[in-house]
Amino acid sequence: METTIVFAPHPDDEVLGCGGTIALKRKYNCKVLIVYMTNGENGKLEKFKPEFLGKMRQKEAILSSQKLMVSESNIFFLGFKDGKLSDDYIKALIKIKKILNYYKPQQIFIPFENDGHPDHTETNRIVINALKSVNFSFTVFEYPLWIWLQYPWIRETSIKQFVKKFIKSNISNSNFNLIKNLNTYVDISTTINKKSSALRCHESQLNRNNFSNINSLYDVGNGEFLSYFLKKQEFFHKKRSFL
Ligand SMILES: [Zn+2]
Repeated sequence: METTIVFAPHPDDEVLGCGGTIALKRKYNCKVLIVYMTNGENGKLEKFKPEFLGKMRQKEAILSSQKLMVSESNIFFLGFKDGKLSDDYIKALIKIKKILNYYKPQQIFIPFENDGHPDHTETNRIVINALKSVNFSFTVFEYPLWIWLQYPWIRETSIKQFVKKFIKSNISNSNFNLIKNLNTYVDISTTINKKSSALRCHESQLNRNNFSNINSLYDVGNGEFLSYFLKKQEFFHKKRSFL
């Protein structure tokens, strides 16, 4: 039986990035494991204390995984610090190597290399480095998330802001790389409903009442951001080289 492991920096990333694909795999009885690097306790919700929010998001992740037909016994919370995953690089690397060597997955899903959030980039780096020492064959798929929020994907970002970003960072390069690199897509039309109901389980990230100065996922980019994840295809970068 084929085994897949999805690595999510925070609860909800796995649903947004590959929820439809997870449900599709489960429909055909493939084993899917989800590994949460952090509990997302620093989700900037002033209303909740981090410990409380972390527990809340764990519960949401369990419920949402059930909607994708992944049972609680196949999900793992590693509990590294939200927003500071790079501080625990060594610990995380050891842990991930153990998981990989134990389950020997044929397919591995991780966030896109330059996704624009430090924990996402770090999750990519840790898993890729852990994979360098394994002795089984596998395929890696990167899923884009926050990169959809950048110009040109979200129209409200002005040209002025785009130029600023272009000068200040390599975000624009990542965007052009993204177009070039999204070399695989999965038709999720038969599981899009499961993906939407899984997403709705992440209430802490969707409920507008929980937010003071930041937007709920519904409002990011005036709703355009979320719309990328509710399409009938999920796009991935199938990685061909690790060196
Ligand atoms: Zn995230």
